[in-house]
Amino acid sequence: MADVLIAGGGVIGLSTAWELAQQGVSVVVLEQGRLGQEASWAGAGMLPPGNLEFAASGEPSLRALSCRHWPDWAERLHTTTGIDNGFRNSGRLGLFRDGESESELSFWQGEHIVADHLSQAELRNVEAEVGAGFSEAVRVPEFCQVRNPRHLKALVAACRIAGVDFREETAVTGWDMEQGRVVAARTSSGSVHAGQFVVATGAWSKPLLEAAGCLVPIEPVRGQIALLKTRPGLFEHVLEVGSRYLVPRSDGRIVVGSTEERVGFTKNNTTQGVQGLLEFAIEVVPALADAELERCWAGLRPGIRSGLPVIGRIPQTENLFVAAGHFRSGLQNSPGTGILMRELILGQSTSIDPGPFSVTSRVDSNSTIAVE
Ligand SMILES: Cc1cc2nc3c(=O)[nH]c(=O)nc-3n(C[C@H](O)[C@H](O)[C@H](O)COP(=O)(O)OP(=O)(O)OC[C@H]3O[C@@H](n4cnc5c(N)ncnc54)[C@H](O)[C@@H]3O)c2cc1C
Repeated sequence: MADVLIAGGGVIGLSTAWELAQQGVSVVVLEQGRLGQEASWAGAGMLPPGNLEFAASGEPSLRALSCRHWPDWAERLHTTTGIDNGFRNSGRLGLFRDGESESELSFWQGEHIVADHLSQAELRNVEAEVGAGFSEAVRVPEFCQVRNPRHLKALVAACRIAGVDFREETAVTGWDMEQGRVVAARTSSGSVHAGQFVVATGAWSKPLLEAAGCLVPIEPVRGQIALLKTRPGLFEHVLEVGSRYLVPRSDGRIVVGSTEERVGFTKNNTTQGVQGLLEFAIEVVPALADAELERCWAGLRPGIRSGLPVIGRIPQTENLFVAAGHFRSGLQNSPGTGILMRELILGQSTSIDPGPFSVTSRVDSNSTIAVE
């Protein structure tokens, strides 16, 4: 019997598993499909910076904790598994049309994160290929990126080395409970016993939480991506306009994202979705009109109304935890979530205040928490 059973083998479940296993905890991960093939695979891998010293609470603190650990996670994963996850500091430019950059600049500067304003001439100097429609930019030099499919591969390999037991094609369907304790996860292939349990099932988390009497409004939000191929070095920075972006990989691939659609668990690309992405790409970097369209995909983000993930123990259960609802920032916040989950599960002192992520503070006002 494992010490900890984790439902869900996305970046959140895997990061939690790795953190626990490195401390000698025995972990089993149950994954309904294949490991690391859902939202965590589909994401663009953008990793904004944070600053723990000036992060007030909630989102900034989780981002800052994660940001502090991305470089050492990348290095340790590389050393342990031989897999380079593509983590690199490419910097990022937020592009604006007309005098709209001030609030963004003050956002970064408010957290004491290096950011500067670029005039149109300075912007052209930094990235000559950016379209003429953009008159200014906010540069965030410490912005990083990771190739998430490689990162997931590295995490799976590192978990295996640390002794994590993976069971794919095994869906958790509910819980066997006795007096406020979960004793086993019900699965598609029988009950699996463990000491503690974690729900890390991304967009699919709601029914598993409901099965423990806890209503947290997590729902799938589809994001479509188009992958282009052009010459390496056409531009270097991640380019963002509002919620859309171009992420240049070092091999000349450009990730173009993304849509935000509430269409249930439908994961296809649509003509309109891809058309919008391609038009956006050409508007931001006109030279991309000649790029090869290599492939398209979509993923289901775990959307949550307040935008903050829920991380912590389910109230009135002794041993059921959740780490879900990371919406658009699950990759960037995965090291911090893994660390915080390990600390909460093992009763260690926490690196950041877990209060803003706790289930108690986040349950839908219409819901009741009634766990037997
Ligand atoms: C297009 C797109 C772009 C994105 N870009 C970024 C980005 O640039 N930066 C960033 O930080 N974030 C980004 N995100 C968001 C990020 O991908 C997610 O927040 C993150 O992947 C969530 O991780 P997760 O492990 O919770 O979910 P998932 O990766 O979806 O993993 C959940 C896993 O649980 C499994 N599962 C579900 N139900 C069960 C069950 N009952 N039993 C067992 N297993 C189950 C699923 O099969 C899945 O493997 C993006 C997302 C998308 C879709």
